[in-house]
Amino acid sequence: MTFEYAPAPESRAIVNIKLKYGHFINGSFVAGKKHFPTLNPATEEVLSHIALGATSDVDKAVAAAQKAYTKTWSKLSGKERGKYLYRIARILQERAREFAVLETLDNGKPIRETRDIDIPLVAAHFFYHAGWADKLDYAGLGHSPKAYGVAGQIIPWNFPLLMLAWKVAPALATGNTVVLKPAETTSLTALLFAEVCQQAELPDGVVNIVTGDGSTGAAIVNHPGIHKIAFTGSTEVGKKIARAIASTDKKATLELGGKGANIVFDDAPIDETVEGIVNGIFFNQGHVCCAGSRLILQESIADEVIEKLKVRMSKIRVGDPLDKNTDLGAINSKEQLVKIKELSAIGDAEGAERWSPQCHLSSKGFWFAPTIFTGVTQAHRIAQEEIFGPVLSILTFRTPQEAIDKANNTPFGLSAGIWSEKGSRIFWASQQLKAGVIWANTFNKFDPASPFGGYKESGWGREGGKHGLSAYLKNGKETGAK
Ligand code: NAP
Ligand code: MG
Repeated sequence: MTFEYAPAPESRAIVNIKLKYGHFINGSFVAGKKHFPTLNPATEEVLSHIALGATSDVDKAVAAAQKAYTKTWSKLSGKERGKYLYRIARILQERAREFAVLETLDNGKPIRETRDIDIPLVAAHFFYHAGWADKLDYAGLGHSPKAYGVAGQIIPWNFPLLMLAWKVAPALATGNTVVLKPAETTSLTALLFAEVCQQAELPDGVVNIVTGDGSTGAAIVNHPGIHKIAFTGSTEVGKKIARAIASTDKKATLELGGKGANIVFDDAPIDETVEGIVNGIFFNQGHVCCAGSRLILQESIADEVIEKLKVRMSKIRVGDPLDKNTDLGAINSKEQLVKIKELSAIGDAEGAERWSPQCHLSSKGFWFAPTIFTGVTQAHRIAQEEIFGPVLSILTFRTPQEAIDKANNTPFGLSAGIWSEKGSRIFWASQQLKAGVIWANTFNKFDPASPFGGYKESGWGREGGKHGLSAYLKNGKETGAK
């Protein structure tokens, strides 16, 4: 039974969206020439117009970042840099509701998630890295580690402000200055973050934000004044970046796609596991690089788990992302919805069996019902390719080794989950799995102190924790990155 809930919409009065935005360069907003609209994906309402950054804008931003690095930022002690990071973290906490509402409007993710997960984690990242700023010489990161100078940072649309925090906080803590490009469909919280930099009186040019499309990102990657690239996005664009910098001395971390295996052994606590499966794939509409998008079930419990999963999925509330009761919001863009529909149709054509609960989807906006495919085999494209939506592919196994072989049989290696009562089995399986992050009896848990990143086509290097810091430092040990 699903209870009928009265609507509980969060007010959007707290956000003040301008008609048009420019770039944030050298501490001020500068007008852009061309603009493109950014939509609320739940309604298709045009929220604002975002500047399309040209190479000349990137040049100005890099020049500002270089000047800030030489004249100001590199001259400050770690303790002084840390004070700015603490200040930014506190302002983010004070303005948390404003950021949560704006992120929900621009991205389509439920307010429950922006309010309780995205924005608290953003503040946590700044607090965590603020604490590192004055301790870098004593952290085993090499002798007197030095910043690169200007870091070029490019982020995706699935966790817009959180990905900004993953990039900006370690860069500033380690003494680098920044030129960052948010994703085309979700620039608004990055532009509000620019206001936070002003409010925190961060020296001009330390953080620069140039909005735009793929060509703006490419201009950052190819700029000779940038010595360190931090990219999160698709494997396809990650490969382009790797090719572009191959003959240069630029360093890079690439956080790319995934096809995470969530393995359930027959001794797992079924009800808790079902919650974990739902969280693994339906959190953030499945727009999660480390989503548990392949469920690998031990055959003896498969029917029971699938039955309970269907019951649980019938209770997922799909709808207005600003409603505090909503579990699953809108798909971020029309393009992403098309991709999800295409790959799901391929799943049908390949013979897998599709199931979704009954749910009402609005005709306005971009929506996709929570979906599972059973009868999936290794050869199916929906078992191999990242769908990046609320779609779960379910496979089965008979022996533990078969589960591992299936889990590792993918070009990716970002995340995995193991569900079992036995600690020894969890340790055994986690040693066999080729994934950068492995959760046991839980899924999608994040912490700034924990390194995150992948193997194979899931990327280079790690973000977060001490590993993440080293990627922003010359001679920084343990990078694993280029
Ligand atoms: P995307 O198309 O690769 O875009 C990522 C960013 O790169 C956007 O800002 C994009 O600009 C920009 N870009 C596009 N073409 C570029 C180019 N040639 N040179 C430089 N920058 C370029 O990825 P997405 O569709 O936004 O994000 C989804 C992907 O990100 C998924 O594959 C997901 O798995 C991955 N992801 C990985 C992680 C991780 O930590 N491993 C985390 C989150 C997401 P536009 O917005 O204008 O296209
Ligand atoms: Mg948008």
